[in-house]
Amino acid sequence: MRAITVFPGQPGSVRLEDVPDPPASDGPILVRTVALGVCGTDRDIVAGEYGWAPPGENRLVLGHESLGRVEHAPAGAGVVPDDLVVGIVRRPDPVPCPACAVGEWDMCRNGRYTERGIKERNGYGAERFRLESEFAVRVDPGLGLLGVLLEPASILAKAWDHTERIGHRSRGWKPKAVMVTGAGPIGLLAALMGAQRGLDVHVLNRHASDLKSSLVRELGGSFHTDGMAAVDRVQPDVLIECTGSPELIGEVLARTASGGIVCLTGVTAPGHARSLDIGRYNRTMVLNNDAVFGTVNANRRHYEMAAKALALADKTWLARLITRRVSVERWSEALRHSPDDIKVVIDFSL
Ligand SMILES: [Zn+2]
Repeated sequence: MRAITVFPGQPGSVRLEDVPDPPASDGPILVRTVALGVCGTDRDIVAGEYGWAPPGENRLVLGHESLGRVEHAPAGAGVVPDDLVVGIVRRPDPVPCPACAVGEWDMCRNGRYTERGIKERNGYGAERFRLESEFAVRVDPGLGLLGVLLEPASILAKAWDHTERIGHRSRGWKPKAVMVTGAGPIGLLAALMGAQRGLDVHVLNRHASDLKSSLVRELGGSFHTDGMAAVDRVQPDVLIECTGSPELIGEVLARTASGGIVCLTGVTAPGHARSLDIGRYNRTMVLNNDAVFGTVNANRRHYEMAAKALALADKTWLARLITRRVSVERWSEALRHSPDDIKVVIDFSL
């Protein structure tokens, strides 16, 4: 079968090549790939900046945003042939740590987890892949290709889940407004879930964009490009930071409404030393009971929450998030980021 593979750590090593069929050790559910979403992590791996091959191998099958159709599943697997499924990305560490031991591998404490297409396990960027039943998530058949948005949506399902758990530290918590920074796929899915919670949704983007602003307006939200002036006007109860921009992060902290929660979802490279008035941040955050937390990855519960959120969403709205579909033959075009892209997908049916 064909697969997109890369020699991790070696820029320019990515290629489409023939590889053996997925081994039975990957799980009893055999899936034919429908589509693969591409994100910044894939581009980082291709650039040689991230990623680890499976032990004893040189190359890693790329891809962690999966969508496939079940070809074969044993009885009791929870899915049946023809079901649309998405594979969970992370697998628990072998120790396991206290978090992995209770199925919360997204909170792994020792870092020895593995990840499909990222860390020591082959990914989903192949014509077929296999899954264990506990790592296969069934997708609403009405979603079709849009099911490829499940993995990115799971990240936001977790972000919202943890935001709400923190919010409920106060019995009187009743958030009204959410500000999302960044209108890429992660930011727009964060905004969708904010709208589904009945919140007043605001999205702050660096640049004007007709497509992104109309997507936000269709959620009933407001699209802003005027930076901290917008945050100061809105006084959000929840701020979900999706840009990973050190400059922006330095500005949004301590800028929410009193009791505000800032959720950080972007990954940044170190080396952005800045001078911050820690006295001011600390004073504001203490006196306002502010909270700031980081979140990464998702466990099965979050995938299921995300599957429900996508099933409830307007399909034409979700479809507009996928701004480019390319065939497997033209896979390399999917890895090039263009400023007009929201989500780019490799469509295995083209
Ligand atoms: Zn663990």
